[in-house]
Amino acid sequence: LCYVDLRKLGTMWLVDDESAVVGKLGPEPLGEVFGPQELHRLLAKRSAPVKAVLLDQGAIAGIGNIYADEALFEAGIRPAKAARALSRRAAERLHWAVRKVLMEALEDRGSSFRDYVDAEGEQGMHQLRVKVFRRTGEPCYACGTAIKRVRVGGRSTHYCPKCQR
Ligand code: ZN
Repeated sequence: LCYVDLRKLGTMWLVDDESAVVGKLGPEPLGEVFGPQELHRLLAKRSAPVKAVLLDQGAIAGIGNIYADEALFEAGIRPAKAARALSRRAAERLHWAVRKVLMEALEDRGSSFRDYVDAEGEQGMHQLRVKVFRRTGEPCYACGTAIKRVRVGGRSTHYCPKCQR
């Protein structure tokens, strides 16, 4: 077993009962129980920026910084917008976008911006398909506006100021 985590964002547990760990995680976004209504209900309770909620593993499991930025771009939602300010339609778009982005990233076997490799030691290819992440100052593929970088919930965040409201 080899675990490389240069940024030290990960944690590993050895437990007898996995529910002690997994039980603290929110629903899996590609699973059956995560529907658009569930997402809207969850967002409606939170005043934090929508991006911070997407990254909160206790709210929804498994969305990292890259995929949160990409999903919010796909949904046309500004990352710093308060989660509870999202309309039902916006939550539906975000639900669709989260699944789309995660499915595409899985097809590409992840994103290798630095040192990420999958279980077979292969680099992911999804970094070649990102639309906003780490594209600061480059033109938006949809409208040509320069991609902006800000900090939201302590994390580097990339978005198009024109396409994302
Ligand atoms: Zn744009």
